[in-house]
Amino acid sequence: MIQSRLFTKTRKEAPKDEVSKNAELLIRGGFISKEMAGVYNYLPLGLRTLNKINKIIREEMDAIGGQEIHMSVLQEKGIWQKSKRWDKTIVDNWFKSKLKNGTEVGLGFTHEEPLANLMKNHISSYRDLPIFPYQIQVKFRNETRAKSGLMRGREFLMKDMYSFCKTEDEQHKFYEKAKKAYGKIFQRLGLGDITYLTFASGGSFSKFSHEFQTITPNGEDTIYIEENKRIALNKEILKEKENIEDFKEKKLVPQKAVEVGNIFNLGTKFSESQGLYYLDEKGKKQKVWMGSYGIGPGRVMGTIVEVFADKSGIVWPEAVAPFKFHIVALDAANKNVRMEAEEIYKKMLGSGIESLYDDREAPAGEKFADSDLIGIPYRIVVSEKNLADGTLEIKNRKTGEVKKVAKEKILNSLLQ
Ligand code: ATP
Ligand code: MG
Repeated sequence: MIQSRLFTKTRKEAPKDEVSKNAELLIRGGFISKEMAGVYNYLPLGLRTLNKINKIIREEMDAIGGQEIHMSVLQEKGIWQKSKRWDKTIVDNWFKSKLKNGTEVGLGFTHEEPLANLMKNHISSYRDLPIFPYQIQVKFRNETRAKSGLMRGREFLMKDMYSFCKTEDEQHKFYEKAKKAYGKIFQRLGLGDITYLTFASGGSFSKFSHEFQTITPNGEDTIYIEENKRIALNKEILKEKENIEDFKEKKLVPQKAVEVGNIFNLGTKFSESQGLYYLDEKGKKQKVWMGSYGIGPGRVMGTIVEVFADKSGIVWPEAVAPFKFHIVALDAANKNVRMEAEEIYKKMLGSGIESLYDDREAPAGEKFADSDLIGIPYRIVVSEKNLADGTLEIKNRKTGEVKKVAKEKILNSLLQ
C-alpha cells in the first residue's frame, strides 16, 4: 500500500476524552476512530490487523471441526424469555428496541438461545451430533464503564463457538480440545507467554469455567498465578483455592489481567429451554449437551497494543501486523531514491510480501516518528546515503536492531 494514498493520517494527539493506551495509540496511528464511548470504527490499517487476528482464530476453530456461520444481531424476545435471560434483573446490559408495531426486540449480547433454537431444524438424531458451529460477529452490550478502548466496547466483535454433543462425556472431551485450540491461538497471536489458563466461576451452568487472561497493568481483572503449572485462579473464586488440587497449598502471585477468552460447559440449560433434543440409537429422546467458547478479536487487538507498545508507539507481533515491512524513502524528492524505493515495493508486491511504502516528501524525523507509531515489524530505509554505499538499512521495530544489507541481496534476505 502506498502511504501517500492512505486516507488516514497519523495524529499527534488522541481525543481528549480517550484515557486508554490502546485507543490512544490506535487512533493516533489511524487504525481506528471513535464513534462514541465504547464504539469504534476500524479503518484500513486497523482492519488489516483485525482480519489477521480473525484468520488465526478461524484456522484454529476449523481445525477442531468448527463450521462458520453468521447469525442475526436482531433478536426476538420470545426465545430469550424461555431461558429467562430477557429479564433485566437477570441480564442488565441488553440494548432493546421496538418494531413499528410495538413488538419488543433486542440486539444480541451472546447467541446461546437463538442458536439452540435454530438447531432444532438440524438436530433430530444421534447421527446429527456432535457439531460445532461458530461465528465472528458483532455483539452489543450496554456496558457501564467503557473506558478501556477496544478492550471494552458497547458494540464489539466476538468469536463465539457453541458445541452440541450427545453426552456429558462427549461435551467434556470437546471442551478439552477447545482449551488446547485456545492455547494455540494465543500463542500464534504472540500472547502465549503472558496468557494464563484461569479457573473462573462457571456461573449458573457449572462449577468452573476457564478464562484466558493476559497479564497487563491496565487489565480490569485480578488473577492469582501458579507459575510452575502456568495456570491461574480468578480473584472471584479465590476462596475455592484449597478445593482445587492444582492450587492447594501453592503460593499464588496476584497480577492485573484482561480476559481475552472464556470457555464454558453449559450443560443442558439452553437446549432444554429451547426444546432441543435428539433420538438415540434406540429411538429414545435425549438431552443435548452444550458448551460455549468466546474470544473478543477487538479486545485481543487492544490487548496486543497495551502489552507491546513502547514510548514511541505500537509494536505489532509479526503475525498480526498490518504489513510486514515499512519501506521509508528519505529524501523522497530525489529521483534515484524514489526509483529504488519503488523497485523494492514492486518486487515485494510481486512476491506477495506485504509492505507499506512511505513515499511522502516529509522530514526524516516525521517519517521515522510515524513509522514507530504505526509499529510495522521491519523498516527498510532508502536514502541518498544508502544509495551511495550500495546498502539498505533494515530496522527491527521491537529490538531496535539495525542491519545493513547489500541492496542486490535485499529481496533474497527478506524472503528468508
Ligand atoms: P468481561 O467479564 O470482561 O465483561 P465477559 O465474561 O462478559 O467479559 P464473555 O461473555 O465471556 O465476556 O465474552 C466472550 C469474550 O468476548 C470475552 O472473553 C472477551 O474477549 C470478549 N468481550 C466480552 N465483552 C467485551 C466487550 N465489552 N468489549 C470487547 N470484547 C468483549
Ligand atoms: Mg468472563
